[in-house]
Amino acid sequence: MTTRIEIDHRRTARHPEKVRRPDNPIQRKPAWIRVKAPTHPIYVETRNLLREKKLVTVCEEAACPNIGECWSQRHATMMIMGDTCTRACAFCNVATGVPGPLDAGEPQRVAEAVAVMGLKHVVITSVDRDDLDDGGAGHFAAVIRAIRDAAPGTTIEILTPDFLRKGDGAIATVVEAKPDVFNHNLETVPRLYPAIRPGARYFVSLRLLARVKEMDPSIFTKSGLMVGLGETREELIQVMDDLRAAEVDFITLGQYLQPTVKHAAIDRFVTPDEFADYAALARGKGFLMVASSPLTRSSYHADADFAALRAAREARLAAGD
Ligand code: SF4
Repeated sequence: MTTRIEIDHRRTARHPEKVRRPDNPIQRKPAWIRVKAPTHPIYVETRNLLREKKLVTVCEEAACPNIGECWSQRHATMMIMGDTCTRACAFCNVATGVPGPLDAGEPQRVAEAVAVMGLKHVVITSVDRDDLDDGGAGHFAAVIRAIRDAAPGTTIEILTPDFLRKGDGAIATVVEAKPDVFNHNLETVPRLYPAIRPGARYFVSLRLLARVKEMDPSIFTKSGLMVGLGETREELIQVMDDLRAAEVDFITLGQYLQPTVKHAAIDRFVTPDEFADYAALARGKGFLMVASSPLTRSSYHADADFAALRAAREARLAAGD
């Protein structure tokens, strides 16, 4: 039997840069965060297909609490360019280290899985690949094109890294492949970047979103934040204003959950009523779509949300806004 100590060791070994950090005890989750263990037959079917195609998912790598619900509906978020990230964010459970070379067969395998699963909408994300000249932009574009060929009826949402120091060319490469939704998460408020997202820069992330919209206004843009990390309501409001100034269409807000004792501590559990308050604030700022709840993740319910997003844009255009 695997002991708790062995599990903790295995998990922290995924994050060599965090091993020497003091432990942050994991707080007991409130009743509104509990999720059921995955047992549905379609969950197993989804898992088997992903294994067969040798695909990595952020659902597993990030230890997402929604995996039972999502995979039971054949909704998995595939993570391309390997399972090892070149950044070392304090909130993230994806392994840190030196990644291997890109797998040239991956775009085709992802596309085949999307076609076999018969997905209406797919979300593709990746690890950060600061080691690549284009940050992986060309690989993202190849995956989008392969899905368009294999599953032309599937709408495509990408959740990308920030392409820090990779220039406008990297952003243009992805935009020219025409994903339906371009998502890049700000993750937290700017004051907390040095502690939570030390390898990233708030205004670089914001500018990426703005540039996507400038390059192709037909692409929906989306961004998400985790709350419960110590941010204030005023700071969140400022981020909402910044996102609207960048013409971002869709904001997602969800509770930060601490993956291991070596990750950033939860400051507090935000209540469902506060999430409803944040949602009302965001709607008031003019976002086309808002998802705000304790278990909201950027890819949670992404298929239904995409349909609603498209309908919201059409309604706004019809109203002459
Ligand atoms: S919310 Fe996203 S990451 Fe989590 S299980 Fe669902 S699809 Fe995967």
